[in-house]
Amino acid sequence: MPDRRADSAPAPMAVPMVDVSLQNDPLRQEIAAALMAVIDSGQYILGPNVTAFEREAAAYLGVEEAVALASGTDALHLALLAADIGPGDEVITTPFSFIATANAIRYTGARPVFVDIDPATYNIGADAIAAAITPATRAVLPVHLYGQPAAMQEIAALCAHRGLLLIEDCAQSFGARRGGRMSGTFGLAGCFSFYPSKNLGGVGDGGLVATSSAAFAAHLRRLRNHGSERPGIHEETGFNSRLDELQAAVLRIKLRRVDAWNEARRSAAREYGRRLAGLPLSLPQEDPAGTHIYHQYTVLCADRDRVLAALAENGIAAAVHYRLPLHCQPVLAGCGAAAMPVAERVAAHCLCLPMYPGITAAQIERVAAVIRGVLSS
Ligand SMILES: *Cc1c(COP(=O)(O)O)cnc(C)c1O
Repeated sequence: MPDRRADSAPAPMAVPMVDVSLQNDPLRQEIAAALMAVIDSGQYILGPNVTAFEREAAAYLGVEEAVALASGTDALHLALLAADIGPGDEVITTPFSFIATANAIRYTGARPVFVDIDPATYNIGADAIAAAITPATRAVLPVHLYGQPAAMQEIAALCAHRGLLLIEDCAQSFGARRGGRMSGTFGLAGCFSFYPSKNLGGVGDGGLVATSSAAFAAHLRRLRNHGSERPGIHEETGFNSRLDELQAAVLRIKLRRVDAWNEARRSAAREYGRRLAGLPLSLPQEDPAGTHIYHQYTVLCADRDRVLAALAENGIAAAVHYRLPLHCQPVLAGCGAAAMPVAERVAAHCLCLPMYPGITAAQIERVAAVIRGVLSS
């Protein structure tokens, strides 16, 4: 009797969107030992691993200080608060990002002002930012989308010239450089996320602010700990936003591999580029002034939803980041944003393909073969 169930069973997910086990497996013993050491120590909050991780992350990034927090969203929110941004202020940012970028601005009472993105890099640039400056503008908050740094020398020069604070959303760009300098080190603050799928990912939530201002770092350390620097004394209304020792212990181990993992992502991107060449797709364009570390490998495709369906049928994961730009989100409808034609067009056509360190050439070929099949039929 033929096994009829075999015909109707769903195809296995041959290519996942992200595969963290490839990162974790070779580090299994090291991670297990570090986690047990924390558990045995009984010190779970603001202990030696957080202090060491902050020191190691600051050294890696090339800044004076790093303050570890509970999430990337908190990193943005607390950095804006510590920069004294609040009601009546405007913060210029991108409409093409995760909702957390805009939410962090709104938590402070300030208004996000969106400017359209560059069609090649999907990041905001200095000219668009300059055109949106008003007397209420206090800060600029660029995002290094998909792991490609925005034009930071130009943006930093504009901010210096116009007296604006510069706070970077580096949630997707840990280890990406521009002009030899790390993303997150061009202004007052660089805000990072260690959400598990990010380039440096924990085994839970986590975040960090990089800065070279000792006073700003001290303020962030108060804000993450209920406004308290000295035990029992609360100087201001703060939050509970601490990275915990278990996460810090894992992140310390992973930090030592992040350059190799980013290099593996770049190499996977080159493989995609070779296998998707010549198709009616826009492949990612690398700005030669920076290093794209491919948090996502994103193509633009006129037939996006047909490709997405074919990939799913073939057991291949893919994602759309982001289907709706921020200025079109219902929650932000009151922000009074103008039309952003580039962001709207990119949102309508973008498709993020499976990307993680360790994805094989055979898996990339599977993805490419399905896309070729759709686009040449
Ligand atoms: C992931 C992400 C965040 C938020 O980070 P969390 O750690 O999930 O809070 C903010 N901005 C961007 C661009 C992100 O990709």
